[in-house]
Amino acid sequence: MKIILLGPPGAGKGTQAKLICEKYKLPHISTGDIFRKHILEETKLGILTKEFIRKGELVPDELTLSLVENRLREDDCKQGFLLDGFPRTINQAELIYDYLLSIDTYIHRVILLDVPSEVVFKRNTGRRICIDCGSTFHITYNPSKYKSKCSYCYGDIIQREDDKEETVLHRLKIYEEERDRLIKFFNTTKLLRIIYGNSPIEDVFKAVCSAIET
Ligand code: AMP
Repeated sequence: MKIILLGPPGAGKGTQAKLICEKYKLPHISTGDIFRKHILEETKLGILTKEFIRKGELVPDELTLSLVENRLREDDCKQGFLLDGFPRTINQAELIYDYLLSIDTYIHRVILLDVPSEVVFKRNTGRRICIDCGSTFHITYNPSKYKSKCSYCYGDIIQREDDKEETVLHRLKIYEEERDRLIKFFNTTKLLRIIYGNSPIEDVFKAVCSAIET
């Protein structure tokens, strides 16, 4: 099963992706997570992409596409995968669609988590992460037990550079510019299901599973 998860930053794609991957036994491919890992490990790709991510810009297509193609060639993707945060542009969508067809495979479902921009703005700017174990918190909706330390490992909790107010507004603007074109593209393939994502996690997950299974 091959699934693509779309939606604005802060729509809950990461949370839903985890649940979907557990249930359907799929590898979770999040381009944002892969880029962040490269940045942390100071690889060549990390050095090349760091500034784009810090400013909330999209990483250029040639870097993103080769990263995704290489990842999809790995053995664990043979039976399926979930793409989270990719494609983000119409160019990426067309290329991945053609690429998958060229290797004789197809996308099972494209799911767009739709959440109003004022809600995702608050979710992003209030998000905090643990620099040691990667756990995610929210200053209002899900605060850590120990304020600036992680509830799970007592590591330091920080705000991601790209979750600062101005950068979030920029990321949302970029998302909105591409959103309608992505919807149009995946609508023509009849693969798209739009799910309202501003509901409790379990309710969104139920709707997601039903979209996958029907
Ligand atoms: P995310 O964690 O999905 O919000 O991604 C964090 C950042 O990684 C984005 O703001 C972009 O700078 C970069 N990024 C992730 N996925 C893509 C993509 N498909 N195309 C271009 N840049 C991306």
